[in-house]
Amino acid sequence: MSTTTLRKIPFFDYPALFAADEAELVEIFKDVGRRGAFIMQRDLEEFEQSAAEYVGAKYALGVGNATDGLLLCMRAAGIGPGDEVIFASHTMVATAAPIHFLGATPVAVECGADHLIDPASVAAAVTPRTKAIVPTQLNGRTADMEALQAIADEYDLLIIEDAAQAFGARYKGRAAGTFGHSSAISFYPAKTLGCLGDGGLVLTSDDETYRLMKLFRDHGRDESGDVVTWCLNSRLDNLQAAFLNFKLKTYDQAIERRRQIARLYQQELGDLTELTLPVGPDEDPDRFDIFQNYEIEAERRDGLKAHLAEQGIGTLIQWGGKAVHQFPELGVSATLPYTDALFQKMLMLPLNLALSDDDVRHISQQVRGFYGK
Ligand SMILES: *Cc1c(COP(=O)(O)O)cnc(C)c1O
Repeated sequence: MSTTTLRKIPFFDYPALFAADEAELVEIFKDVGRRGAFIMQRDLEEFEQSAAEYVGAKYALGVGNATDGLLLCMRAAGIGPGDEVIFASHTMVATAAPIHFLGATPVAVECGADHLIDPASVAAAVTPRTKAIVPTQLNGRTADMEALQAIADEYDLLIIEDAAQAFGARYKGRAAGTFGHSSAISFYPAKTLGCLGDGGLVLTSDDETYRLMKLFRDHGRDESGDVVTWCLNSRLDNLQAAFLNFKLKTYDQAIERRRQIARLYQQELGDLTELTLPVGPDEDPDRFDIFQNYEIEAERRDGLKAHLAEQGIGTLIQWGGKAVHQFPELGVSATLPYTDALFQKMLMLPLNLALSDDDVRHISQQVRGFYGK
């Protein structure tokens, strides 16, 4: 290729998500459309069943998005006014918003070296009002669920997982989203299992929690159509469920490809002392990470980001560069020096199925170039 041509690599290629399977997706649209199967039809039921089996949960319910999903989980857990709920500040505001809207208090804590919730920080934040811990299974990796469960057992707390980024990730053989009371998964297009719009899933293995969440996502209506509780509407579109049924068939390969890309980044960048890379896919025998993101720590991060942008390479700083406790308007104040320091260094390199090996090598070369290597 000519050296004068800028090779553009977007952080995430949304049109490619559609183009990769265009013919099949259009057929699915036609099929669902011709059946008039738009709301809570067999495609949704099939998807719920397959998704529950995939992770080894007793129940899965399609919902409008993971944010709603977390609200349903927390409401089913009885979280409300007077309760405190602990979460890691390095997460999307969507982890904390449901806590707020149930009238409870979000309590932000630190993350650790792998960017996931720090159990020691959780233990230190427990008070007599603490009701639950909400670990975010960040970047496609599962938190230290053994340590969190020990804290939950000691203080009689519930665990509700924000597994929005971790559908299929595992910790000691068990899938993210199946550890606690319940959990939520996101199918936002850029997520590892992305649909063509908004979509989400809640998981539980508890019969009563399932019964409640099923009411909560559909106006509080029971099987007979009777309204038995106040609630709103948050259903996964049947059309999105049909797309997801299709995508789930090749999801194992999609994850394997993500892990390959992570492996390649590690080969290409592992020797740079200016960077701290995520734990590699073959490095942690306790975990199967699905690499929703490739979040590095970089010296002179802003310079690196600008340099890559000049080279046509898109990168992203998660959450717009601010942890939840760093948005003053939310009133979730906390003293979190580790998280504050991390947010000066962290940066996500592109990691998605539209990338070729050559793209990954090219990105890596540009990173090396910035540090003069
Ligand atoms: C994407 C995401 C959410 C929100 O998911 P939606 O389906 O967009 O509501 C929540 N938490 C985390 C960690 C996420 O990455």
